[in-house]
Amino acid sequence: MSMELEKCKIVWQNAALYFSVFQEVISSIIAGPINAVYFRKNFKILNIGKLHFEVESLVRNCFILHVLNWFGKVYLGGILNNELHYLTGNKYKNKKFDKVIFAIGSCENHGEHLPFGTDTFVSHILAQKVAMQVDGLLVLPPINIGYSGHYADFAFSLSLKSETLIAVIKDMIESVISNGISKIFVMNGHDGNIAPIEIATREMKVKYPEVKIATLDAWWVAVGKLIPRGTFEAWNGLGHAGEGETSMALQLFEELVQMEYAKGVVPDNLVDHIDIKWLFNELTNCGVTGDPTKATKEKGCLMEEALLKLLVDFFKKMDANNWNYSSTVTLS
Ligand SMILES: [Zn+2]
Repeated sequence: MSMELEKCKIVWQNAALYFSVFQEVISSIIAGPINAVYFRKNFKILNIGKLHFEVESLVRNCFILHVLNWFGKVYLGGILNNELHYLTGNKYKNKKFDKVIFAIGSCENHGEHLPFGTDTFVSHILAQKVAMQVDGLLVLPPINIGYSGHYADFAFSLSLKSETLIAVIKDMIESVISNGISKIFVMNGHDGNIAPIEIATREMKVKYPEVKIATLDAWWVAVGKLIPRGTFEAWNGLGHAGEGETSMALQLFEELVQMEYAKGVVPDNLVDHIDIKWLFNELTNCGVTGDPTKATKEKGCLMEEALLKLLVDFFKKMDANNWNYSSTVTLS
């Protein structure tokens, strides 16, 4: 048998959280198509940062499949006992959830270097990680397809009509309400979803005034204000599959990124504060805006930490005040 060894590096976040299941992970890998597992010498298990290990595998794809398999089992099922897809009815019954978070992503071309599911992955993984730190927060399945009509010139784009997406979001929210939960957080991952989310959530709030609904509409804009100025080198990290989004992808799912194909166009003919309703192929001929070649995992780490802090602090503040955000000032 030809033994062409390929080295893959997997970086695990929140090492301390994974430690309790680590034995299972390693034995699971060794039981699969992997012939060796070893740790880098700078392995830091108690660091809240990252846990590094490298694996030599005979077949990289088998390895990735295997990783995704136990990632699902361990990460989602073992630790994240707060994700609806992975709970049994019994587990759900015995846990106390008083609020939900769900991601809305997209399935569309993200240039030659990022996966089609990037927007779903980023928003859903952030939702999962927030739920690890917030009591009573149930993670619902993400909506995997968004409104992507303006990206349709780059294959392969799946898109819901905006009215379909509005209806799906409303149905999700009404399902949650009918299950007795009245605190709802929508975590958006994609620009085309902003308007449908706005319409759906506004109308749901008007219809159900007692329900609390919050959204993070554009993490890619918010994060530029949360991390140190000067972190981004091109276009303040903006763009589709650009510096910011690619940095997040490197941080959250590096295994799926092909940096050797990263390239992008920084639009230089747009006007600040005015929103031109472009089709994406009017801005770029390569399916990418911004400069993904400036992306790094370190920037992604800063971005992730800033966004998790924003979100976790939000939930803690709201919980502390029983989700009462009415103004304390009344004028006579
Ligand atoms: Zn995207």
